[in-house]
Amino acid sequence: MKRVADRLVIAGVGLIGGSLAMALRAHGLVGEVVGFGRSAENLRIARRRGIIDRAERDPERAVRAADLVVVAVPVQAIAPVMGALVPGLPPTAVITDAGSVKAPVVAAAERVLGESAGRFCGSHPIAGTEHSGAAAALPDLLEGRRCIITPSARTTSVTRKRVHALWEAAGMRVEEMPPRAHDRVFALVSHLPHVAAYALVNAVADADRSGTRRALAYAAGGFKDWTRIAASSPEMWRDICLANRDEVLAAIDGYGAALERLRVAIAQGDGSAIMAELTRAQTTRRRLGTAVPSKPAPRLRARRGARRSRGR
Ligand code: NAD
Repeated sequence: MKRVADRLVIAGVGLIGGSLAMALRAHGLVGEVVGFGRSAENLRIARRRGIIDRAERDPERAVRAADLVVVAVPVQAIAPVMGALVPGLPPTAVITDAGSVKAPVVAAAERVLGESAGRFCGSHPIAGTEHSGAAAALPDLLEGRRCIITPSARTTSVTRKRVHALWEAAGMRVEEMPPRAHDRVFALVSHLPHVAAYALVNAVADADRSGTRRALAYAAGGFKDWTRIAASSPEMWRDICLANRDEVLAAIDGYGAALERLRVAIAQGDGSAIMAELTRAQTTRRRLGTAVPSKPAPRLRARRGARRSRGR
């Protein structure tokens, strides 16, 4: 496989940006890695862990002589960070992001880039954990997972190929999707579960506070499995809710309707209606299988035993 960049800039060396850099370095597919970010302490951790070669706090210095830039900051910060980086960016450099919402990010990025919007292609690597920052980055986090890229009519074919090659070099299975379709799908299978998990934890904590005997003290496997993702970064998920507002609201409404069907069946003591709801869900869920991909990339197959749950 060919090197994806001689000088790669990661803006936001957190879980995703850090994991990407680690994967590329592990396979010798990148030259120098420059980290840009707002937290000096996080960049120090990234340097100490060997994720980046050099940390820069000044945007123009960060992108000097760069040929590829990945903006892996929370969704609402992507366009402002790009705006700060663009003035120093060499004309041939390609730029992508890692944001979990695509249509508004692509539109804002293209506005910021103006006439050079062809050098941008949106990305969303479908991998993660509930942990944040460079300290949480893992070299095999992205391995074998899907990455959705969302080229627009303005994206040049060179940009599209380079962004495709970037994620593939990190071991990902790359797929293309229109930004709006992406946002509809991930509102359902990623944003809704996070919102629901946060709400579930609050509902139980509220019941505890209003007098139930310390229910949370008895939380076991089921509750903890389902709410693991509620330990994720509130800043990141606030941004996702705001940026994908309409799709997230539609997903919450659909979920509310499904919950209401169950509530009514339970209230009416209607066992067959309860069975019908639960059986339909059980069949669908069993068809999905486990959280990790069924066919891991060959180079990681031997290490799969060590993989923890890393679904998004
Ligand atoms: P993270 O919190 O681990 O890392 C984000 C990094 O960006 C941090 O190092 C932070 O210091 C830096 N940062 C934040 N605001 C900044 C700003 N204004 N200027 C410069 N640096 C800034 O988050 P993450 O989980 O790596 O998420 C990064 C992006 O990837 C987000 O857009 C998120 O939606 C997306 N994403 C996350 C996951 C996941 O499961 N965590 C999965 C796929 C995509």
